Amino acid sequence: MKKFFSTFLALTASVAAFSQAHSGDPKLTELWDPVPSIVQPGKTAQDAPSDAIILFNGKDLSAWNGNKGPVEWTLEDNAMTVKRGSGGITTKKGFGDCQLHIEWRTPSVVKGEGQGRGNSGIFLMGRYELQVLDNYNNKTYSNGQVGSIYKQLIPLANASRPPGEWQTYDVIFIAPKFNADGKLQSQARITVIHNGVLVQNNATIWGGTEYIGIPEYRPHAAKESIMIQDHGDLVSFRNIWIREL
Ligand code: MG
Repeated sequence: MKKFFSTFLALTASVAAFSQAHSGDPKLTELWDPVPSIVQPGKTAQDAPSDAIILFNGKDLSAWNGNKGPVEWTLEDNAMTVKRGSGGITTKKGFGDCQLHIEWRTPSVVKGEGQGRGNSGIFLMGRYELQVLDNYNNKTYSNGQVGSIYKQLIPLANASRPPGEWQTYDVIFIAPKFNADGKLQSQARITVIHNGVLVQNNATIWGGTEYIGIPEYRPHAAKESIMIQDHGDLVSFRNIWIREL
């Protein structure tokens, strides 16, 4: 009975506050705290804002490790290009929840088809692959095309530019969370905008990317390196920046 009355009183109070808010003082619904921090935006939406970590500015590979030691990829014309057979490159720093901007370009000389044309990939936390592929007039399986989370999530659209043109990915990634005993607490989620087009909308990732078989989650640290794939195609990258969330 006592609980009933306290619930009743709380309800009456909130109804009173609600009707007051609608008919009375608009200040009642203003929140002044916390104050969002000031971030100086870039000149364009592609340019890094003031609080971003620059992972690649076209000249400096110091934020990256190669497969075995220093990065062997080709540094030229304010871009880095996969050096076939040298392996993927990984960020020295680990990241969890983040906003990532990355620009990429598949070779203007079109070679191969399906998965064999302009293939690379951005492996968030070294595990969850956002596919990079020349998908311009190039058919492949839907959950392996550009903008897919490889072998898992089909993109909402194919926003490809022709080969040889620069393309952009803007990614919002929420890392999976694990309990202390390694049990999965929450799955990873991802939003991807490809050349200004939404292709993944807060989509739930099923687990680590697998070429064969069913993806599953295996526990890992809260922050892990981002890896860019060497799939044997001469894909280039530039203007990579990240904001930790
Ligand atoms: Mg790939």
